[in-house]
Amino acid sequence: MAKQLPAVVLVGRPNVGKSTLFNRIAGNRRAIVSPIAGTTRDLIQQPASWQNTSFLLADTAGMFGQSEDPLQALVVEHGRRAFAAADVFVFVVDGREGLVPADLEIAVALRQTGRPVLVAINKTDDKRSRAGALDFYELGFEPVLEISAEHGQGIGDLLDEVVKRLPERAKVEDAEATVREPGIAIIGRPNVGKSSLVNRILREERVLVSDVAGTTRDSVDATFQWHRRQFRIVDTAGIRRPGKVSRAGQVEGISVLLARRAIATADIVVLLVDATQGAADQDGAIAGEAERAGRSIILAVNKWDLVKAEGEDFAEKFDDKLRFQLKFLEFAPILHISALTGERTPKLLELIDKVLRERTFRVPTPELNRFIKQVTEAHPPPNPGKGAVRIMYAAQVGVSPPTFALFTNIASEFHFSYERFLVNQIRKKFGFSGTPIRLQIRRRERKSGTKSSEQGRPQGRPQRKSFKAGKAGAPAGGKSGRRRRKAAGLRRP
Ligand code: GDP
Ligand code: GDP
Repeated sequence: MAKQLPAVVLVGRPNVGKSTLFNRIAGNRRAIVSPIAGTTRDLIQQPASWQNTSFLLADTAGMFGQSEDPLQALVVEHGRRAFAAADVFVFVVDGREGLVPADLEIAVALRQTGRPVLVAINKTDDKRSRAGALDFYELGFEPVLEISAEHGQGIGDLLDEVVKRLPERAKVEDAEATVREPGIAIIGRPNVGKSSLVNRILREERVLVSDVAGTTRDSVDATFQWHRRQFRIVDTAGIRRPGKVSRAGQVEGISVLLARRAIATADIVVLLVDATQGAADQDGAIAGEAERAGRSIILAVNKWDLVKAEGEDFAEKFDDKLRFQLKFLEFAPILHISALTGERTPKLLELIDKVLRERTFRVPTPELNRFIKQVTEAHPPPNPGKGAVRIMYAAQVGVSPPTFALFTNIASEFHFSYERFLVNQIRKKFGFSGTPIRLQIRRRERKSGTKSSEQGRPQGRPQRKSFKAGKAGAPAGGKSGRRRRKAAGLRRP
């Protein structure tokens, strides 16, 4: 287990900008921001750091102020836990609205904790924002800082002040402190059996570590051990709350919302499909997001016990149809399970473990190059017209998901079908089961000073349109070709 980090907790009324600030500090779109009051409900905490100081950032969304949120009870419960575990509070207030009575109530609760409290006046970018911070000094906390979470103003100063107030144990420099267990997201439509599956896994594995009040980590995720390996089931609490979808229409289907949030913090997604119903459009959409985010995916067909009486070839037909509906997930293994009877749920864990291990596998460069040479000599890339296309050099430039850069003599893109062919060959040879594989096709650089634009391209679909090296339009400010190759751990071919 990782070391316990100190907790920085955001508090404030709904809609003051807590989630926006959370995303700004944590550096990604973990929380879901919405302009409708009370609809941001981020239950997640995330490691963050500033000036060599690591901490956990948590939001108490929904804890203060009623909302129509169907997850209100859940949100409040998690908010309370985060509140109790806080080392430093950032009290977010709305500069546009000024001090309102609800702020005073929150101030009372904060004072009772005896912990340091900073006041962050948000939305000061807005013209309607009141001139001074004076009112907010009335709250009795110092310092009072003006920020704009949306525009990133004043955030550095705020973090400086936060870090000053953190206990010593935050001053760690080892990355180990923020290393987390691989995360499993179990997603699917309401009633497909998500909570049954989670409960079965946790019950059978017994070694439940999380959900302990006062541990600042994992207040949402459930950690368990399997064959001496530690895993995390993300967003478990949300998953445990089935059927509360009545008023979810306000923003979007609640199950989609929960799924999306789970995917954000997961390494692997188990998409549950109901054996009696097959996949729905929504399943395809959410699985597509998981794929684009580079998550590994397993298709688990649940309630298989209910279709056992069907004929011999039912399984085959079912799988064919599923493959057809989710064409872009051809890499995802399919498993028939029953969360109710426990049939093949141990197999599911085995598969999760295997997929996660292969996800981080690195193909040694010489081996990869031998292989690519062999494949492309047997099946050369199609020739778009100006001479033979050759792959000069290949390297795996990333894991999770595995990403391969292929340097060619002239082409900077391949036809989609040829990329697919290469990906399939790589998969056949090296595995990576359940994980999307990314290819980056780059024209080999001749002159230093030109650069490809693909290095460090964020996860996403393999980019069709890539750079044209040596031509105008290469982004400015890049490193030289040689230095870039070095940074990516590549040798000059
Ligand atoms: P939360 O309910 O406290 O988590 O608030 P949100 O982060 O969901 O923000 C509520 C609304 O305020 C959203 O429409 C945001 O775009 C907006 N907002 C957040 N921060 C700022 C800011 O710095 N300036 C302005 N003008 N709007 C902001
Ligand atoms: P969730 O909404 O996805 O969390 O679904 P639940 O876990 O609450 O399950 C919905 C219903 O399906 C419950 O009545 C479960 O008992 C039932 N169920 C879940 N898994 C199975 C299964 O493998 N077989 C059968 N027959 N029923 C199941």
